[in-house]
Amino acid sequence: MQTEIKQVSGDFSVSAQITEADVHELASLGVKSLICNRPDGEAADQPNVSEIESAAVQAGMALAYLPVVSGNFSGADIADFLAAWQRLPKPTHAYCRTGTRSITLWSLAQLRQGRQPQELLATAGKLGYDLSSALGVTPTPTAHERPPGAAHYDILIVGAGAAGISVASSLLGRVRDLDIAIIDPAEVHYYQPGWTLVGAGIFKQCDTVKTTASLIPDGVHWIKAAVGGFDPEHNRVTLEDSRPVYYERLIVAPGIKLNWHGVEGLVETLGHNGVTSNYRFDLAPYTWKLVRNLRKGRAVFTQPPMPIKCAGAPQKALYLSADHWQRSGVLGNIDIAFFNAGEVLFGVKEYVPALNEYIKRYGANISFGHRLVKIDGDNRRAWFEKNTENGEKTLVETEFDMIHVCPPQCAPDFVRESALADEAGWVDVDQNTLRHKSFANIWGLGDAMNAPN
Ligand SMILES: Cc1cc2nc3c(=O)[nH]c(=O)nc-3n(C[C@H](O)[C@H](O)[C@H](O)COP(=O)(O)OP(=O)(O)OC[C@H]3O[C@@H](n4cnc5c(N)ncnc54)[C@H](O)[C@@H]3O)c2cc1C
Repeated sequence: MQTEIKQVSGDFSVSAQITEADVHELASLGVKSLICNRPDGEAADQPNVSEIESAAVQAGMALAYLPVVSGNFSGADIADFLAAWQRLPKPTHAYCRTGTRSITLWSLAQLRQGRQPQELLATAGKLGYDLSSALGVTPTPTAHERPPGAAHYDILIVGAGAAGISVASSLLGRVRDLDIAIIDPAEVHYYQPGWTLVGAGIFKQCDTVKTTASLIPDGVHWIKAAVGGFDPEHNRVTLEDSRPVYYERLIVAPGIKLNWHGVEGLVETLGHNGVTSNYRFDLAPYTWKLVRNLRKGRAVFTQPPMPIKCAGAPQKALYLSADHWQRSGVLGNIDIAFFNAGEVLFGVKEYVPALNEYIKRYGANISFGHRLVKIDGDNRRAWFEKNTENGEKTLVETEFDMIHVCPPQCAPDFVRESALADEAGWVDVDQNTLRHKSFANIWGLGDAMNAPN
């Protein structure tokens, strides 16, 4: 089993994100049903729930998908969890990013069933989960004064990605004795630009991943948990298990959310039927397999509306694939199509002439204003929405032997629903200073904020 299973009771267990292989192991351990509490697209190494569900169906297990945003449970979420738990065949295994949301929902459901908070707290505590705030044993603070003993840092950083790690290093390089903490639940940190090169057979997949622990700068405290919410009026964030962490200055850098469900049929076929994406760690090698094996046929590359992370990555997949086909002597047999939701090849106009040279060299056909809306992997067909001249929308169908999809992207749910967000959901910063427009002790960094690149 790749993922550690935490046995909560005789018929209930939780864990961090599981893989398809884990599903079969859970079945062999006698587990009869699964509950997924993690919304799809939270991280770039996350299998979509439909992939886990296919494995569960094969293994004869039932699955309930009850996604919840960290630290933001409604009464309906608890009721839905309780109903699913009562309905599903036992034993049941629930998972999310770290297991915290699952065990919290189970405990809150048990509370409704009359179990005592102290007993539930002790059960969760033995498994390494601190539910004291979630279960109301430690009251959630409401006053500005922080409770004695509450975690507090001069500088608190949300997210240990490219932005979070670099800003921590950079600050420490200037003032050595700063009291800094980074909050991030991820065990591993990815060098995501490397995935383009994995998809082109140039990098090894294993060279794009390191443990988060090995990258946290010396002297910086790592809080291994997910942030569930922000309370900028009281200088605190709330972790997904409801624990508060206080700060003097906050830097918000939790990245961007990949919206795989934004294209109908995509999650059902991703990783199969010639449908791939370098935007997922585990799928970049599949891109290379498809590119290597394609000797003739139609290769389609897509780009969604902005904003996306790395506006160049959808095109880099095209150029590197075409370069391989050219060097292998098969380029003439491959019909390359680039469907771009935008109206120009690249947003920075100085780059466009050089890129156009490559489009010409590889004989690629570009369709601007075409947004991927649907894929049928089994029949190798894709549909794009296009605005007509009279302002109506029309669907354009195309076939493919392979298709590289860049998914639509949006702000992370817990940012979008917070007081820090602009209308579109991004951290609302001054584009010259990256300081929040309303809260002077908060900054946004990386993909999650709204300054232009
Ligand atoms: C295929 C591909 C190719 C790319 N190529 C390039 C390139 O050539 N050049 C370039 O400049 N950029 C490129 N990028 C983009 C680049 O990787 C991102 O812009 C960069 O990683 C953004 O850094 P970030 O710290 O904002 O987000 P990320 O690096 O994504 O890190 C976000 C971190 O926040 C954490 N997090 C998420 N939710 C929470 C939460 N609730 N609580 C706490 N922590 C949380 C995550 O675990 C993660 O560690 C590419 C990206 C991809 C996918």
